[in-house]
Amino acid sequence: MGRSVLVNGRVFDGTKVLADGTTVVVEGSRITSVTAAPVETGPEDVIHDLVGKMLMPGMVQCHFHTGFGTDAGNPSPYLGHGMPAAFLGMVAAKNAQIAIDFGVTSIIGSSNGDLLDVCLKEAILLGHIVGPRVIPCTREMIASGDSADGDNRSWYMGVQHHGLIRRTDGVENMRQAVREEVGRGCEIVKLAISDGHGSQIIPEWNYISEEEIEVAVETAHSRQAMVRAHCPTRTGIIQCAKAGVDIIDHADMIDDEGIEAVLAANATVVPSFLWSERFMGIAEGWDYANGPFPIGNGFPETQERTDHRLAGIKRQFEHSVSMLPKMRDAGVRLVLGDDYGFAMMPHGDYASEMELYVKLGVPPIEVMQWGTRNGAQAMGRHGVDLGEIAEGKLADLVVLSGDPTSDVLVYRDPSNIELVLKDGQIQKDLLTTAV
Ligand SMILES: [Zn+2]
Repeated sequence: MGRSVLVNGRVFDGTKVLADGTTVVVEGSRITSVTAAPVETGPEDVIHDLVGKMLMPGMVQCHFHTGFGTDAGNPSPYLGHGMPAAFLGMVAAKNAQIAIDFGVTSIIGSSNGDLLDVCLKEAILLGHIVGPRVIPCTREMIASGDSADGDNRSWYMGVQHHGLIRRTDGVENMRQAVREEVGRGCEIVKLAISDGHGSQIIPEWNYISEEEIEVAVETAHSRQAMVRAHCPTRTGIIQCAKAGVDIIDHADMIDDEGIEAVLAANATVVPSFLWSERFMGIAEGWDYANGPFPIGNGFPETQERTDHRLAGIKRQFEHSVSMLPKMRDAGVRLVLGDDYGFAMMPHGDYASEMELYVKLGVPPIEVMQWGTRNGAQAMGRHGVDLGEIAEGKLADLVVLSGDPTSDVLVYRDPSNIELVLKDGQIQKDLLTTAV
C-alpha cells in the first residue's frame, strides 16, 4: 500500500513550528516519518505539495454537546431536547460532520441524553457516518433541587425520552448511576456541581456533596472512565480537583487555592469563556424579565432581580478573565471547547472561542497548543498516540491554507481546512478535488 507524503508545508507539531522543509510521511494509520531529509517516493505514494499551507495535528474539542443545536441561534434554553431522540441522533451526526469540516478529529463529550454520544461513537466507528473520535459522555448527573430539576424546566430534560439529566442523590445512587452509564458505553461521567456560568449568578455553595463527588470519581476510575464536572464555584473547583475529577469545566471562580489544587491533581480546565461573553453581550437587549432564561424556578422575573443578576454575572466574568493569566503562568492545562449547540452558539463557530482568547492576550500559538497537545493530554492520549506530529503517532492531521499559529481566524472559514485525516483515513479532502 502506498504512503501519503506531505512535503513543503509549514508544520506545527502541537507544541512548536518545525523547521522549513520538514516532510511528514503517513503509512496506514500512523505517522512513520517526520524528517528534514529528502524522502524517496515511489509510484504508489500520494504526494501532497503543501507549499503555502500549514500541517498540524487534528484539533480536540474538549466540551462537546453532540446532540445540542436544533435551535442554536435562538435565545432558547431548550437545547433541542424537546425533540424526539431519533431526531437528536441526526443532529449529532450533523454536528460530527461539522466538527470534521473544521479540522476537529477528537471530541470529549460533555453530557447528552439518550446515549447519543455512545451511539455517535459507534456509528462513526462502523463507517455509517463521518465524524471525529468520540469520548462518549453520560447524562448530566444532578442533585435534586438543581436548577435543571425545577418544575418548569425538567420536562425537556427528562420526560418522553432518556433525557439530559439524571438525579443522583446520595453516595449509593451516584455509585449506581456511574456504574450503569459507564456500563452502557460512556467513557466520561459528567457531574453538575452547582448553578452558574454564563447565564446565572454563581452561588457560594454546591448541589453535589464532596462524598458524592468522591464516589463518582472512585467508581468511574475503577472502570477506566474519566470524570468531568460543571464547576463554577470556588469550593467546587477545589473539592473536585482534590477528589480526582479529570476535567474541570468553566472554573469561573477559581482562585490561587483552586489553581494549586488543579495543578496537584494534574486536572484539565476548560475555561469556555465564549458562552459567558456572548450571553452578556446580548442579554442586556432582551426582555429578560419575561425572556427565555428565567431565574431558577422559571417564574417571570422582576426588573430589579434581573439587573442584579446581570451585574453579578458581569462581575464574575471579570474575575474569570483576571484569573486567566494566573492559570497560564502557573501551568494549568487549558483546553478548547465551549457550549456549542446552546442558544447563540452554533457548532462550527469554533474560531470565535479562539479569537476571544487571543483578544484576552493569549498568543495564537498557545491557543493552538490548547486545541491540539493539551486536548490530547486531557484525553490521556498525549505521549501515547495523539496530539502531536511525531513518528509512531496516529495520523490525525489537518492541512490549512493559512497559519493559525499566527492568525486563529483561519478557522473561521471551513474552506481553509483543506485536508483532514483521522487514523490516516481521509475525512475531508479539498486538496485533491481543487486541482
Ligand atoms: Zn456544557
